[in-house]
Amino acid sequence: MSQEDKAIQIVKRLREAGHEAYLAGGCVRDRLLGRPPKDYDIATDATPRDTQGIFPDTVDVGSQFGSIVVLVDGDPFEVTTFRLDGPYSDGRHPVHVRHGTLEDDVRRRDFTINAMMYDPVDDRVIDLVKGREDLRRQLVRAIGDPHERFAEDRLRMVRAVRLACGLGFAIDGPTLRAVRSQAAAVTQVAWERIGAEITRTLTEGGARRGVELLDETGLLEVILPEVAAMKGCEQTPDYHPEGDVYVHTLLLLQHLDGPTETLAYGCLLHDVAKPPCRQPAGERVTFHGHPELGAEMAVEILRRLKRSRAVAERVAWLVRYHLRYAQAPNMRLSTLKRFLGEEGIDELLELCRIDALSSNGDLGYYDFCQRKLAELGEEEVRPEPLLRGRDLIRLGYAPGPSFSAMLGAVEEAQLEGELRTREQAVAWVRERYPDEDERKHEP
Ligand code: ATP
Ligand code: MG
Repeated sequence: MSQEDKAIQIVKRLREAGHEAYLAGGCVRDRLLGRPPKDYDIATDATPRDTQGIFPDTVDVGSQFGSIVVLVDGDPFEVTTFRLDGPYSDGRHPVHVRHGTLEDDVRRRDFTINAMMYDPVDDRVIDLVKGREDLRRQLVRAIGDPHERFAEDRLRMVRAVRLACGLGFAIDGPTLRAVRSQAAAVTQVAWERIGAEITRTLTEGGARRGVELLDETGLLEVILPEVAAMKGCEQTPDYHPEGDVYVHTLLLLQHLDGPTETLAYGCLLHDVAKPPCRQPAGERVTFHGHPELGAEMAVEILRRLKRSRAVAERVAWLVRYHLRYAQAPNMRLSTLKRFLGEEGIDELLELCRIDALSSNGDLGYYDFCQRKLAELGEEEVRPEPLLRGRDLIRLGYAPGPSFSAMLGAVEEAQLEGELRTREQAVAWVRERYPDEDERKHEP
């Protein structure tokens, strides 16, 4: 049974029990657009207690706000009682939301395109706020007075941008103006919620437009001032014929196609330290140290957006090494293999490719790295170690801090192609580290 069939089954069960029930919100919008919905939400006049009584398998995810998750063959569906208001994302939600009518529930939603209901029994869309017309006109428009709606919940401003760029829609004039006038107050929302919407803006299509909309509305300056600071940061034209650092960064975002979160933030932030590192040098401009400072700034920014530590670390690594690939042709073989053997290398090279395409278009270094990766293969780049700590112990060396230096030297020689077998490695170690002090336990 498809997700949609399961959701419809829930609606039908509620109806059989004498309740009103509909598919609601985002899934109705996506069905009308012919896009696969991410999830199916159900709105009903049944109370959480009613819903728990009707379905055998439920989870209470927030019955004080009217929401119960119903599980169908293990798949979760949120069933929410028609609400009169909130909860709002800035933590001002009432302790208990009041139950309302279908119409109340429609009017407390954020945008017209998100406020339609679908009745699968009569195959009928219930559209009290001209959502279908806005879908046709490709407009994100707040329900009611946009100033009031954003004052209730400032997260809606970021959601407007995320929806507009993801769907390729425009933001309706009065709604856009309301975002502009309240952008500075977005910081009243929990950063975690802002970070989640920014991540979706960067990863779900239209990332370039998303950042441009954030900029046009004034949200960028408040949420990501370091990115806004790239505007007008001029570069030397022969390296960067495309323009300033901001224009260059927008071009990278334009190349993204269903990126991971880390690649998306890597692209957004790879040159984030160019403004503070900028030094005019005669005819030219230099940005010494920007990858290193940029890595630190990326961690700080991603911490602010409450992204995971793993994401922050990977993005910082991408930013720190985004120019390293240009040294690949001059690297010793062992250094090259260690570089190509790094855990995130595929993502780093993709960033390098997009970075090159977004400036002078020279893919020479990128092609070199890909060619070497293919030529060397997994086994050469990340070989099984010839010796491990326990082998050194067996050879009679006392465990200690010198082990990692010894094993590192063996690995280096292995990557350089000087050592190919275990026997060679053993002989090499014995010859290089004959020091009796280190061989306390000689058998
Ligand atoms: P998707 O799931 O594709 O991201 P969605 O529209 O379903 O999009 P959700 O965050 O799942 O977005 O929210 C479900 C519905 O709840 C929305 O369609 C909207 O009607 C309503 N909603 C969500 N957040 C808010 C909010 N901050 N203010 C008012 N209504 C909201
Ligand atoms: Mg949804």
